[in-house]
Amino acid sequence: MAIIIEPFRIKSVEPLTFTTRPQREQILKEAKNNLFLIKAEHVLIDLLTDSGTSAMSAKQWAGIMVGDESYAGSQSFYRFQEVAKKITGYKNIIPTHQGRAAEKIIFSILGGKGKTFVSNTFFDTTRGNIEYSGAEALDFLTEEGKIPQHIAPFKGNMDTVALEAFIKNRGAENIPMCVMTITNNSGGGQPVSMQNLRETAAICRKYGIRFFIDACRFAENAYFIKKREKGFENKSVLAISQEIFSLADGCTMSAKKDALVNIGGFLAINDDALALESKNLLIITEGFPTYGGLAGRDLEAMAQGLEEVLDEEYLKYRLRSIEYMGEKLSAAGVPMILPTGGHAIYLDAKAFLPQIPASEMPGVALANALYLEGGIRGVEIGSLMFGKYDENGDHIAPPMELVRLAIPRRVYTQSHIDYVCEIIIEVFRKREQYSGYKITYESPLLRHFTAHLE
Ligand SMILES: *Cc1c(COP(=O)(O)O)cnc(C)c1O
Repeated sequence: MAIIIEPFRIKSVEPLTFTTRPQREQILKEAKNNLFLIKAEHVLIDLLTDSGTSAMSAKQWAGIMVGDESYAGSQSFYRFQEVAKKITGYKNIIPTHQGRAAEKIIFSILGGKGKTFVSNTFFDTTRGNIEYSGAEALDFLTEEGKIPQHIAPFKGNMDTVALEAFIKNRGAENIPMCVMTITNNSGGGQPVSMQNLRETAAICRKYGIRFFIDACRFAENAYFIKKREKGFENKSVLAISQEIFSLADGCTMSAKKDALVNIGGFLAINDDALALESKNLLIITEGFPTYGGLAGRDLEAMAQGLEEVLDEEYLKYRLRSIEYMGEKLSAAGVPMILPTGGHAIYLDAKAFLPQIPASEMPGVALANALYLEGGIRGVEIGSLMFGKYDENGDHIAPPMELVRLAIPRRVYTQSHIDYVCEIIIEVFRKREQYSGYKITYESPLLRHFTAHLE
């Protein structure tokens, strides 16, 4: 069935702003052709990120009203702790204001010069926090995960052979932690199989290395396991999630993803000594351990969101929306990373606009075309974000030129998705008309956020 039934009806609406093509031309020009510099109110469909952009449910908003704002021992904390313990099974639940705050705490304790952290793929803030501590962060993604058009069910898996060989060579005593990112954010949310989680956990146990889950999209990953891995067809997403967490010693979580809130996160740890040290750091960086950088109302919304994300009708709608978009675009010949993952579509700008060389940023050209054509905002992940210069000032391109369209949770309906597909297909039909960009201003760090282009 192609039709997607959104498993909710709409109680509160937010108007979209429609602009005309000449208005968008003017807006983009004023924003120096950088989509990060336009006002959100000038965007019709905003697919910049799925982080913190979820629509909260009526029950979550109700939770906002009953949040207990006590400094210590807030009821909302105990409710949140109960839900987080039910799902993860970890002994110590430490709230933080978002995922990177949990990362900052754990990697400040375990990191430092001479240490190596290993993962299927570290998310950029995770890598950033590890490297900031002086340690190094290495990825061991399965080979099939590196081939954009290769169809496989679990392209987020760890290359366990390479991982074990590395551990033997580097020495387990130099590796404080192995992190499995589920789903693998880089690549649009490619899932990790239970078998791969079990194998990785076994390797970590064998060498005495702590094993943690970067759990931002745990429910989406669990639902992929249910759909794609033998033996899980009849298990609930809650049971699958519990099994995933039981294989590890703790997790970091950005609640801005699968806890369906606009702000929040947590760190969960079995080891009491490590948890105590983390809470001590939490007190000086985030706040008292029963609120950790959040208001009581945020904890309430997070507790409710963690329950709701396990609803399989919701997950079915969520993953189907992205798959549907992938099918529609593929049928029209639009080049993208396949199979589609759990939270985003990645258009292959290099194949889409072959006339534009990497030095002229085909990803920017494509992202800007989608805005001009239909008011859609995606994000370039290519030469603007990751390009470098050699000693002669010539452009060094990253391996891929992509445009990511991330889908916020419970925000858009099938007709919005259909509209986005129509615009992409229209741009694809006219693809020969587009030309590249050059940078006229750039900052020394993270230039994509503030660059000016023409
Ligand atoms: C978003 C994200 C983080 C960081 O979380 P924030 O809440 O943005 O600080 C860490 N890991 C992954 C996989 C993420 O997607």
